[in-house]
Parts: sequence; structure tokens; C-alpha cells
Amino acid sequence: MTSTERLITASAGQHEPSDIIVVGAGLAGLRAASLLEARGYMVQVLEAQGHVGGRVMTRHLDGEAVDLGAQWIGPHQHRIRQLAREFGLTTAPQYTTGQAFVDLNGELRPYKTLRLPVDVATALELAWCVWTTEWLRAGVDLHRPVSDASAARWDTMTVADWTRRHLQQAAARQVLGAVVRAVFAAEPEELSFLHFLYYLQANGGLLRLIGVRGGAQQDTLSGGAGQLTARLARALQRRVLLNTPVTRIQHERTRVRLHTPRGVFEARCAVVTAPPPVAGRITFEPALPPPRQRLMCDMPMGAIIKANVLYPRPFWRAQGHSGELLGCASELELVFDRSRGGDAPGVLVVFMAGERARAWSRRSPGERRRMVVRELTRYFGPAALNPSAYTEQDWTNESYIMGAYAGLMPPGLWTAAGSALREPVGALFWAGTESARTGFGYLEGALESAERVTEEVTACLTKHPPR
Ligand SMILES: Cc1cc2nc3c(=O)[nH]c(=O)nc-3n(C[C@H](O)[C@H](O)[C@H](O)COP(=O)(O)OP(=O)(O)OC[C@H]3O[C@@H](n4cnc5c(N)ncnc54)[C@H](O)[C@@H]3O)c2cc1C
Repeated sequence: MTSTERLITASAGQHEPSDIIVVGAGLAGLRAASLLEARGYMVQVLEAQGHVGGRVMTRHLDGEAVDLGAQWIGPHQHRIRQLAREFGLTTAPQYTTGQAFVDLNGELRPYKTLRLPVDVATALELAWCVWTTEWLRAGVDLHRPVSDASAARWDTMTVADWTRRHLQQAAARQVLGAVVRAVFAAEPEELSFLHFLYYLQANGGLLRLIGVRGGAQQDTLSGGAGQLTARLARALQRRVLLNTPVTRIQHERTRVRLHTPRGVFEARCAVVTAPPPVAGRITFEPALPPPRQRLMCDMPMGAIIKANVLYPRPFWRAQGHSGELLGCASELELVFDRSRGGDAPGVLVVFMAGERARAWSRRSPGERRRMVVRELTRYFGPAALNPSAYTEQDWTNESYIMGAYAGLMPPGLWTAAGSALREPVGALFWAGTESARTGFGYLEGALESAERVTEEVTACLTKHPPR
């Protein structure tokens, strides 16, 4: 437990009256709370878990700060870069020197992001696929995604349906499947094609999403992303209560009562930042409008397991490897080099995603570790056999997160319930990365949602001053 967490836990029990209760101390909840507090409101944050951060989690291992949740920020993600600057945090570029590899059908081939080692027919089909999805996503209205007949049709099909219809080459389908797993932590069969396009549009396009230089994987926060949420929580001090899961919310137009095992908290309004399927386990009285209920029932989370594997040195660099691997046909979806360089230890960051993550989630941590080391040895040689340390986080097993990177829209859900992602219900407001227009699924989206909900709550409380 960090000193911040001890401080917050110790202050539990000192309930003060609040204007606003924020459910969840992830990035969205903490940022919304600090913005609302800066406007003079009394804010109380209730967090179910014994730590802040939610999907942001930095662990210290052999003197290295390793991220088991969010890690990268891109040059286009202005809010998160600004927050890092405000806290005086620095970034380090993702290491890309040397050869990257793609595992296609068990065969390891060197590659560059836009130049995959595939036959001409596959390369042409992939180029067509990138061009077409970029063109289609540019027409998606982030305010109203189901805006016309085409969008409504895209919401009736999965990414796999679209792929089967338009891609003839098996290798092209395999690569697109790997990209979907890497970006969404889900299978092409799970996603609405409209959601795929929405996500691309909300994050600047496919090339940005998969790219390193100029893309979403360009930089990491030195010292770990956990510093962001720890700093926000420290500034809020006793306004954050840990180990306080909200189980029931009674709501009226200008009053809310939130029930927790540590008592009932009252306020003029509440901001719920738990991902929609997690919020769906809270009992709301009266019941929420049908689209919001449908959203919370039918929106699954992605499936991801992330591991950090430490070695005394980043030995792969001396062999001319960048440490980057795209595992189209591997148990590992992605591997990246997260070493600090110099005399610092070598760190490989490893992701299992989609069905593979769900399958490996059913195995023991020891079995997973053996598999990860075996696969790394296949890619980087016998020097990978004996890591000095290993740590992992299975996000599919987190009771108050239920999966990651983010919530997913299966076919039909945008059409039936998309408007409920952000629409307030009386004194209840929704934030969190799943409610973002810009940066959906990312840290950037969590911050965007915090800014939006701050405006919504301010307008509501100004309209209904306390009696
Ligand atoms: C492995 C992994 C890698 C990622 N990589 C990146 C990356 O490189 N770059 C990037 O930008 N993003 C990345 N992300 C996504 C990013 O972490 C999320 O988009 C972001 O952290 C979401 O923040 P949030 O506040 O919206 O939600 P959360 O972090 O999920 O916060 C919600 C909080 O609500 C709490 N809660 C839930 N239910 C209750 C309840 N009933 N009562 C009280 N509290 C409750 C939860 O415990 C949690 O703390 C990654 C995520 C994961 C897991």
C-alpha cells in the first residue's frame, strides 16, 4: 500500500456533506472530482477497490516501475500530455531501433508496420482494407454514430462479417484479426463494424491506433502512468474513500443516496465512472430508462492479460531486435520493449488478448508464466529462458473492471442504446472512457469524459441551487 493509499484509507468514516459523489477513482473519476472541486463544489469519491487508478496500475519490481494497465500516450492525445506536464512528468519514446517481427502461421518474419512480409495479393488487399476503412470512418458522426442508412447497416454486421465479404486472402483476414485483437482486445466476431469505425474515428484512424512514431504507442510516461492517478488522488486527500463499493443508488431530480457497506452517502448529484457493464451491477431506484439498462446488460468488456518480463539486460537489442512482435498466430498478441536503456534491466511487455486471454485466464499463473517464457524464447532465443522477474495482471478477473482495454459494442447496440452512453438521468451523470467522443477506450477519453461531465454537472447544479 502506498502512502497515498494509507492516507486515504485512514480518513474513511469522516463523511462531510457533498454536492457531488463520484463513483470510481480511475482517471475519469479523479479528474472529474478535481475539476469540480476547483469550481468550489464539495466532492466525495467512492472507490470499490483498495487502491486508486482503475485500469491504470503501476507496480514496482526490481527497482523498475512497470505498467500493468495503460502505458502509452500518443502525440495527438493532448489532454493526457497536458496533465503529465502539469505534474512535471516526463515521457520516453518507445524503443524501435532494430528489427520487429510478425508471427504468421508459426513462421517468424521481419516486418515494418506498413510493410508486412506477405505476397502481393495479400498486400494489395490489406492496402485496400486500410484505405476503405479510413474512408468509411471519416464519415462517422461522433455525436450521432447511427446517423444514416449506411451506419445503421454497419451496425447489423460484425467486423468478421465485413471481412468475409470483402477480403478473399486468408492471410489478409489473419492480419486484420490480429490488428483487431491488438487494438480492441476482442475478436472480429464480437464487434459491430460500426463500433470498429467509430473507434477509429474517435482515435484519429487505424494507422494512428497501430502506429508507434506519430501513433498511440509513441511514448511512455517515465516512472509509470500510475503517477497520474496517484497525484490526482493525493490532491483530493480525504475526499477519496477506498474499499467503498456502491451497491445501490436511489435518485431523484435533485438528490441522490448512494448505499455502500460503509454507510449511505447523500449529495445533490452523482457521477458514475464505472465501465457500463460494471455499473450494471449497481441497483438503481427507480430503474433506469430501458436504453441505459440495455447498454449496461449488453456491453461486454475486452479481454486482456498483460505481463512484464524482466531480464538483467535488454539482450535482444545487441542481437539487432527491437523487441517488437505482432503475433498473428502466436499465444502472445503483442510484445514491446519497455526497457529504460543504459544500465537498467531489460523489460519486455507482453499482451494476451481476446479469446486467447480468456483461455489463458482459466489456467494458473504458473502455467501462464511458463507459456510466456517459452514463446519469448522462441522469438528471442535461449537468453530469454531465465527472466529475473515476472509480473502480470489478468484484467478479465477484476471484479470492478471486468475486462479491458474498454467496453465493446456488439452489433445492434449503437442503434438500440448508443445515446444512453452519455445521457444524464435526472441527477445521475455518466463519465469514463466508454462515454468519450474523442479518445474512446484510452486515457485521453477518460479525461475528455471528465471535462464533459464537469460542464454537465455545473449546468445542472446552477439550474437547481440548494434550497
Ligand atoms: C492492459 C491495459 C493496457 C492499456 N493501455 C493503454 C495505453 O497504452 N494507453 C491508453 O491511453 N489507454 C490504455 N488503456 C486503457 C486505459 O487504461 C483506460 O481507458 C482508462 O484508464 C479508463 O479510465 P476510467 O476512469 O474511464 O475507468 P476505470 O479506470 O475503469 O475506473 C473506474 C473505477 O470505478 C471503480 N468502480 C467500479 N464499480 C464501482 C462501484 N460499484 N463502486 C465504486 N467504485 C467502482 C473501479 O474500481 C475503477 O477504479 C489500457 C488498459 C489496460 C487494462
